[in-house]
Amino acid sequence: MTSKNQHKSCQYNYACAECDLLIKMPRHIPHRTVLSCPRCKHTLAVGHRNPKHHVVAVSITAIVVMIIALSFSFISFSANGQNRDIYLLQASSELFFQEYYFVAAIVLAFIVILPVLYLCCLSIIILNTQYNLSFLSTHLLGRIASSILPWAMTEVFLISVLVALIKIVSMAEISLNVSFWAYVVFATLFTYVVSIVDNHRLWQWVAQGDNW
Ligand SMILES: [Zn+2]
Repeated sequence: MTSKNQHKSCQYNYACAECDLLIKMPRHIPHRTVLSCPRCKHTLAVGHRNPKHHVVAVSITAIVVMIIALSFSFISFSANGQNRDIYLLQASSELFFQEYYFVAAIVLAFIVILPVLYLCCLSIIILNTQYNLSFLSTHLLGRIASSILPWAMTEVFLISVLVALIKIVSMAEISLNVSFWAYVVFATLFTYVVSIVDNHRLWQWVAQGDNW
């Protein structure tokens, strides 16, 4: 048996994220079974039928939907006989042209770059468990995915857009375009992936695909 196969078959200890209790995790968790920490009751993992296929398929779909969201008009305004289309990237580029360079960069990162990077990291980690992509370190990708997840703010952006629309709806006629609905779909798919990939599952995949 190779060292990689030994890695796949063995059980391992997992530290609870809330209270640091060391818990021996089972190799297989049945579908929809919730494992909680015996000390603080924090949810450690939720069983899922074929999570790898779900995550890869939904991640690739979400990335395609994001390309659509970036390619078409986000919102149209109509007031006093004048029409104006606004694109998703203008949320960042308008700030850039007003010389708010740092704010422009973090807006672009929070709403587009980091969510897409997270999905790419997950897909590569999962593909690494199936195929030996020896040029990539799954440990590094796991660390990147863990550290960028708190900064991916797709749903925060959508809520802020809706709040802004409520304020200006009395001043102009507004229509929500293809890009807006594509971003709503992206945010939904992204949230679905995040709900499947808990910390335990992510590092289990990292251990399975680790070849460094
Ligand atoms: Zn705990």
